[in-house]
Amino acid sequence: MSGILDQTLHYFNKAADIMGLSDHIREMLASPYKSIVVQLPIEMDDGEIKVFTGYRVQHNKKRGPMKGGLRFHPSVDLNHCKSLSSLMTWKTALIDIPFGGAKGGINCDPKELSESELERITRKFTNAIASDIGPLKDIPAPDVNTNAQVMAWIMDEYSKSAGYAPGVVTGKPLDLHGSQGREAATGRGVVFICESLLEDWEQPVEGTKVVIQGFGNVGHWAAKILYDKDAKIIAVSDVSGGVYCEDGLDIPALYDFVGEGCLLKNYPDYDKISNAELLALKCDILIPAAMGRAIHKENVNSLQCRAIVEAANSPITPEADDICFEKGITVIPDILANAGGVTVSYFEWTQNIQQFNWGEEEINTRLKLKMRKGYQTVTKVAKKHNIDMRTAAFIISIGRVGKATVLTGI
Ligand code: NAD
Repeated sequence: MSGILDQTLHYFNKAADIMGLSDHIREMLASPYKSIVVQLPIEMDDGEIKVFTGYRVQHNKKRGPMKGGLRFHPSVDLNHCKSLSSLMTWKTALIDIPFGGAKGGINCDPKELSESELERITRKFTNAIASDIGPLKDIPAPDVNTNAQVMAWIMDEYSKSAGYAPGVVTGKPLDLHGSQGREAATGRGVVFICESLLEDWEQPVEGTKVVIQGFGNVGHWAAKILYDKDAKIIAVSDVSGGVYCEDGLDIPALYDFVGEGCLLKNYPDYDKISNAELLALKCDILIPAAMGRAIHKENVNSLQCRAIVEAANSPITPEADDICFEKGITVIPDILANAGGVTVSYFEWTQNIQQFNWGEEEINTRLKLKMRKGYQTVTKVAKKHNIDMRTAAFIISIGRVGKATVLTGI
């Protein structure tokens, strides 16, 4: 299995086989509704003209406006967007928010662009896809290398022709109708899932040994919230490697260090470990929160965790996923575990279109209800059919999108 597109299709087909899905519904749900590729010629700061390519793949809109991130990265291509857009369809259906799935981005390296070049590219891209996005059509959000500022430019550019429309994007700055709690939402959602799992194990969060790969937005927030609940975070890592302490790390101190632009391998205290060693540590819960395909058939047999909570998208290859099931390692799939971000994006959109605001406590309470309900629904189906949680999650999502497809007609 070569890549992320094959991976999503593999899980989709596995669930579709169990469900006995008809061929025409299967074909409709497996492929995207619309793929948009646009040419973006930009005048660079030095006067040179460069041509970039922008993508927006709209996977499914049967349950609501399509929703998904925009990624600015040299690896962005149509296949990547297709796969990630379908993951969004299954994620929004599973967590039961009224959206479909989409994903997009621009093939560029933001590290090599000035702020004004980045703004020009973003505005040009927004104009190129303006007739396909909108609060009731398709609502982009931040993803790899895009942030609240990029969302502010998109909102402004779109609003020039459509009228003031904060609901066209989520993940906006708070001063431009962003939502309280959005930044921490994915990590917080991961923690709600860990708590549900521990309740099933009848084990307190306090003292639970956790290992986290990736110390960026998602990994750091998950670490911080678990630390505040007295879990023992024994190892964390970034792209440079990790730090380890069997008695538990001082997460706020590590975050301050990383916040100054430092790499974890240069932290003055604690034992240093490689990312490979980190994955093999004995712990209760392993949280991969970095990149896709981190756990594969070559390293899966070294794992010593009881459960994996997939904070990153597609961090386990299908071969490794099967081995985890055989080894008795519980895997909470990405479409459930990291759905906190899109859930609070939905809350942001809800506030925007009704022009009101919720406080952070209300957001977090509503997020908790959604994540717990998602967990309970998936565990119920997994137990009933004696299947892994990922297949159960896909069965629930495909069932919901399939029903909406049948009800609205072909
Ligand atoms: P980020 O860029 O803020 O952080 C990524 C972290 O992973 C950094 O600490 C980085 O150093 C580390 N990393 C990168 N390459 C690595 C490697 N080869 N080995 C070990 N560590 C490595 O990204 P993020 O927003 O925290 O997203 C992390 C993952 O979660 C991604 O897979 C993303 O698609 C997924 N995700 C994010 C959100 C969100 O709201 N941010 C929502 C859903 C899913």
